[in-house]
Amino acid sequence: MKEGERILIVGAGLSGAVIGRALAQEGWRVEIVDSRAHVAGNCHTERDAATGVMVHVYGPHIFHTDDAEVWAYVNGFATFLPYKNRVKTTSGGQVYSLPVNLHTINQFFGKCFRPDEARAFIGALADRTIADPRTFEEQALRFVGRDLYEAFFKGYTQKQWGCAPADLPASILKRLPVRFNYEDNYFFHRYQGMPEHGYTAMVERILDHPNITVRLETDFRRNARDGFAHVFHSGPLDGYFDNDLGRLGYRTLDFERFTHDGDYQGCAVMNYGDLSVPYTRITEHKHFSPWEEHEGSVCYREFSRTCEPGDIPYYPVRLVKEKAQLADYVRLAEREEGVTFVGRLGTYRYLDMDVTIREALDTARLFMERRAAGAAMPAFLKSPL
Ligand SMILES: Cc1cc2nc3c(=O)[nH]c(=O)nc-3n(C[C@H](O)[C@H](O)[C@H](O)COP(=O)(O)OP(=O)(O)OC[C@H]3O[C@@H](n4cnc5c(N)ncnc54)[C@H](O)[C@@H]3O)c2cc1C
Repeated sequence: MKEGERILIVGAGLSGAVIGRALAQEGWRVEIVDSRAHVAGNCHTERDAATGVMVHVYGPHIFHTDDAEVWAYVNGFATFLPYKNRVKTTSGGQVYSLPVNLHTINQFFGKCFRPDEARAFIGALADRTIADPRTFEEQALRFVGRDLYEAFFKGYTQKQWGCAPADLPASILKRLPVRFNYEDNYFFHRYQGMPEHGYTAMVERILDHPNITVRLETDFRRNARDGFAHVFHSGPLDGYFDNDLGRLGYRTLDFERFTHDGDYQGCAVMNYGDLSVPYTRITEHKHFSPWEEHEGSVCYREFSRTCEPGDIPYYPVRLVKEKAQLADYVRLAEREEGVTFVGRLGTYRYLDMDVTIREALDTARLFMERRAAGAAMPAFLKSPL
């Protein structure tokens, strides 16, 4: 059944690599194409030649998950070393701890509150006149009041999304974004770490299978599908259809790279909440590998803006207009036979790495089940809407 059958995968990021590996292990011949000159997609890491620092080329990537199977999976292809993401923010000329926690609150208001006192204090600041918050701004004001909102949420959000928080939906801020203890570990997940030799080395190992062929610097075109039993497409959904229904909106990032002798900022990620500072954050890459020692340092200033043709799409916008357009693309995709759209670009969703791997494993399993049953594979594992 599988003898001689070939599978085409567009994209050698985590989605493509994990699906490819699972199918290759079951005997399919897998061809993977990627337009870039390297594998690992947006998780790509490479050592800076001058300093030896492992650089997260497309922005900082921290692995965190509650999914035991996914954690075991990545540990099968890389040694993960302990790493806790502790983010700081500079706001109004002071440095604070994020996410907003008891330390942030006490420092910001010049207090020595215990947890219950802080809870009552923030509760009193919260704007209870807003009964039914419709925007991000209203939601934040209702949760934390104006002072904390303006210092820690307003400027950063505006820079990140390129529009006023009053124009963003309340759904972006689902829960109270404040902790009433001193826990500053950014992620709550049970497993957290960094691959010792970077993500690219891990993805290279996932792809290292005799049934897998990878062709880099190769753009996928729809007419290249012929001769393949199935296509898994982890490139942009709109790009697959030559943007026939218009371009789905994305935010892109510009990284302004600079080097420094010694330690530039003393932490991996420093956010900048003030609108007077044009960038959203500075990343100092050597702090992502705390087990290594480097004299020099490589840093990125990160700027967010609207994604134009030719830019790298980073964050899907997914506001009302984009969701309507997405629904049209989903209809087109569902009429396309023999193609499954996967990953962050193929499904137009923000996906963390662990979710990407989970969905890739599930996609490969579903494909094998469907093939065994002689049934067709759906265009999407889950609806992207
Ligand atoms: C700034 C930023 C920070 C992030 N930080 C974290 C984090 O800390 N922790 C976390 O868990 N997740 C993080 N993520 C999410 C993470 O990047 C994704 O989970 C992951 O990249 C998804 O992998 P993918 O294979 O679906 O997509 P990608 O990595 O984008 O891979 C898709 C690949 O397809 C290729 N491609 C596209 N179109 C074509 C075409 N037409 N022909 C050929 N090749 C094509 C691309 O070149 C790319 O290599 C972050 C994302 C961003 C944007």
